[in-house]
This record gives sequence, structure tokens and C-alpha cells, in this order.
Amino acid sequence: MSKTGEGDGYRIAVLAGDGIGPEVMIQALGVLDVVCGKFGFKVERERCLVGGAAIDAVGCPLPEDTVTSCEGADAILFGSVGGPKWEGLPADEQPERGALLPLRKRFGLFANLRPGVCMRELRGASPVKDELIPNGFDILCVRELTGGIYFGEPKGRRDEGDDVVAFDTMVYSRGEIERICRVAFTAAMGRSKRLVSVDKANVLQTSVLWREVCIEVGRDFPEVELTHMYVDNAAMQLLRRPDSFDVMVTGNLFGDILSDEMAMLSGSLGMLPSASLGGKNDQGLYFGMYEPSGGSAPDIAGKGVANPLAQILSVAMLLRYSLGEVEAAAAVEAAVSAVIASGMRTKDIYTGSEGETLATTADMGQAVITALDL
Ligand code: NAD
Repeated sequence: MSKTGEGDGYRIAVLAGDGIGPEVMIQALGVLDVVCGKFGFKVERERCLVGGAAIDAVGCPLPEDTVTSCEGADAILFGSVGGPKWEGLPADEQPERGALLPLRKRFGLFANLRPGVCMRELRGASPVKDELIPNGFDILCVRELTGGIYFGEPKGRRDEGDDVVAFDTMVYSRGEIERICRVAFTAAMGRSKRLVSVDKANVLQTSVLWREVCIEVGRDFPEVELTHMYVDNAAMQLLRRPDSFDVMVTGNLFGDILSDEMAMLSGSLGMLPSASLGGKNDQGLYFGMYEPSGGSAPDIAGKGVANPLAQILSVAMLLRYSLGEVEAAAAVEAAVSAVIASGMRTKDIYTGSEGETLATTADMGQAVITALDL
């Protein structure tokens, strides 16, 4: 196996995890089978333990074998981890902290891509009034994931006389800003060539540097129209006119908050994939980890009602960014759109309107496969 797709094909590590993770993963892998056949490439999958399932089987949330399999892969397809069963464990041993953070660190996953998409047919599920989003919206938030205030030093607390002081440090280097901006400009080139950089350059020194570097990187992408927006304004504009955004790039803290706002505006977590990208290989393709934006949804796990589309769309992102199979990615996305247009809905996006059909997890996966075959 190689990292080029030559020889026998690509290789991915499949980490289904807990709760609805395994249920939606089965559907996503079924779609991957069909897309491989249709576009004539192979993807070998290595199934690995992660999260609570790994704790139960071998006593830790991210076993060494799993890391080794990920190291030998072109990409990681992740489900979700966690649940009430493991909530009593010490923080570092819990499924999310003990698996996701070490994976991000080990593979240097510095760029988090979170689409915030509300398809026209699903406007009713968005809290934004229909008339403000006549055609829905399709935003891509590119968030810096490994720097900024979450990781800056010093951080801590100290006593000062009778008082207590706590502090965090926001730090960004030119190199960190440059590499995330390059990801964002490249993504913008593949879309409508519009990029908004979100910062707080009227107050923060890190944002002043952010803006400078972003403008410099932009000179290498003259076709992309770059604008800048303060984060407070971005939070308001997202509510007012989400369809005015296309690609957005921002730091770790602002991206954390704005991408969740976008998810809420989209209507259902079950529809939203995400990608966390690291370094590029010789072909200019990213190593990445692809997963639904939502968690393990223990409230609906095992009931066959979870929406598998976020996991299926995570496969599409994996095909595009890590395997370079752009046509196959677009075909999966088009099949998902066709299924939504046909009125098929899992419970989370079902409104009871005329033309809607209530579907199980498996029905939805099968419908995407059928749409791919057309
Ligand atoms: P959650 O995202 O799991 O669920 C929030 C709500 O969204 C629930 O009502 C759930 O039913 C619904 N939902 C989520 N995905 C759905 C889907 N595909 N189809 C239909 N409905 C869906 O968030 P939570 O309840 O805060 O967390 C539950 C567990 O997941 C916790 O243990 C948490 O730590 C973990 N978690 C894991 C990840 C991850 O693996 N990346 C991310 C977030 C939370």
C-alpha cells in the first residue's frame, strides 16, 4: 500500500468509536464501497478501536495499535466518542480528551474545516427566517486548531493579596498564521473565490499580525477577493445574512465559537461533517481526520434513527482533501443533495411537511447509494 493511490489503492484507518458512531459509520462505508466501484479506485480500511469502546476492550481510549494504523494510512475516518458510561473517569482518561486531543497532536492537525450548510429544502430547520435565506447557505469555516489562546503559555492562576488572578496567553506566530491562511485561500479557490478573515485587529496584537500575514498570503492568490471582519461583527452578520459568507478563516478561539454558531444556524448537527488537516504529502494532498461535527448522541444510540449524512459527507471531504478524488467527492455530495431534495428525512430533520418521508439511518444510507447509482 502506498500513500499515493498507486499499487493496490488507498488506505484509511476507520475509528467508529461509541454511541451512534458505529451505526452511521456502516452507512458511510457502504457509500464508500459504491463510490470506489463507480470511479475505479480502491480504499482499504483498517478498523481500529477508539474512545469508550477501546477503554472497555483494552483499558485506554487511544491504543498504540490504533495510532500505528493511523500512521500507515492516507487519512482517518472518525465516528464519535464518549458517553455516560465513561464520564466518571479522570479527565485525561475520558474518551474525548484521551483520544481526540492526542490524535490532533500526533498528526499535527492544525486546520479545522467546518462546513455550515443549510440546504434550500431544509431552511425550515434553521432558526433563521426563510426570507433571509431564500436559497439556504453554504459556508466553510477554516479554523486554526493547534495555536492561539488555548495553547499559549503562560497560563495559570496565582494569588495576589486577597485576590486570585487567572491568565491565558494568546500567541500566534507568522508561520502558524501563514499555513492556515494558505489552506483557506486554497479552499476559496475551489469555491466562489471569496474569503473573509475574521479577527479582532482593533484590540489584539495577534490579530494585527494575523491581518498582515493574511494580506501577504493573499498576494499568491490574486483571484481570491479577501475581506476582513471583526469577530463581533462576524457573529452578528452570520445571524443576519449567513448567505453572504463563503469561506471564512479565523483563529482557534473565534473559530470555536463561530463554527458552533454556524452549526446551530444550519439546523441539524446530523448534517455537518468536519475535517482536521495536517501536513501535505508529495502530491500536495493533506493527511486528515474526518468526522461528523456532532458527538456520540447517546440519547438516540442503538435506535436506528441517527442521521448518517454527516458521516457520509465526512467521506466526501476525505475523498477531496486526502485522496484527491475530487469527482468522487462531488458525486457523494450531489447524491446527498438529491436525497434531501427527494424529501427523505431522518427524525432530526423531519418536520412533517408535505412531501417528506421519515427514514431510518439505514434507509438514508441506502438512498444515498441509490442516488449515486443513477
Ligand atoms: P451530541 O452532538 O452527541 O448530541 C447533541 C444533540 O444532537 C443530541 O440531541 C443528539 O441526539 C443530536 N445529534 C447529534 N448527532 C446526530 C445525528 N447524527 N443524528 C441525529 N441527531 C444527532 O452532543 P452531546 O450530547 O453534548 O454529547 C454526547 C457525547 O458525545 C458526550 O460524551 C460528548 O463528550 C461526546 N462528544 C464527542 C464528540 C466527538 O467525538 N468528536 C464531539 C462532541 C461530543
